Amino acid sequence: MTDIHPVYLVGAGPGDPDLLTVKARRLIDAVDVVVYDKLVADPILALFPAATEKIFAGKQAFNHYMPQEKINEVLVELAQAGRKVMRLKGGDPFVFGRGGEEALHLAANGIPFEIVPGITSSAGCAAYAGIPLTHRDLAHGVRFVTGHTQGPDGLGLNWQSLADPDTTLVIYMGVTNVQQITERLIGAGMPATTPAAAINQGTRPDQNVLTTTLADLPEHVADAGLKGPTLLVIGRVVDLSERLAWFDDALAREPIT
Ligand code: SAH
Repeated sequence: MTDIHPVYLVGAGPGDPDLLTVKARRLIDAVDVVVYDKLVADPILALFPAATEKIFAGKQAFNHYMPQEKINEVLVELAQAGRKVMRLKGGDPFVFGRGGEEALHLAANGIPFEIVPGITSSAGCAAYAGIPLTHRDLAHGVRFVTGHTQGPDGLGLNWQSLADPDTTLVIYMGVTNVQQITERLIGAGMPATTPAAAINQGTRPDQNVLTTTLADLPEHVADAGLKGPTLLVIGRVVDLSERLAWFDDALAREPIT
């Protein structure tokens, strides 16, 4: 009987390869096949040995996404064939990454697995943009929500509860619906002047941080014509980025050895 190895569900972090965990980095050299998403940054893929098989789960022919059921099946088939499989996702696999669904499918098929957490984009992007997600005087909590439309009635979020000026709000996948998000939050009582940021390509060399107010966020996002992943951060802590931005200086500096 073929030996079955565990499938490793691994978070790649938001882009900078230096943000990989030690375990992820070790497994990159150890697996023989990786199934990866489009959010996984190129410099991370470049770390895999040339002999490692790389399967792109982001898109199939004709620009269709590989359906989730198909990804689930592929993982099970590869594991059953005795392959050492890594399933690699952007950020953290358990934060808006469908890692839970994949793990459930593996469990249901009796395939062992290990979850390797990654730095979720809110932690990585906020750090690289100089925005502390909490701060004693400015925000006593933080919330992560998805801005991706769920159904015909819009986003189905509890706007009343989200419109809390004392809590930082981080919105994943929020660009397409930024107009609706802004209107709903202001409608639910969040001040229109609340500082807001859009962090594009966070932690990557072409990171772009736009800072504005909640009311002006949709216009700024539209004007910037952002390509690639973007995270929205809304809350008073955004004001600190002017003083705490450090990443552009770091890029210009020789790394210490
Ligand atoms: N599991 C991932 C999130 C997947 S959802 C995580 O933990 O980060 C995809 C969304 O993540 C994108 O739409 C964007 O909002 C955010 N994102 C991921 N990487 C990013 C990056 N490098 N810069 C900005 N946003 C990013």
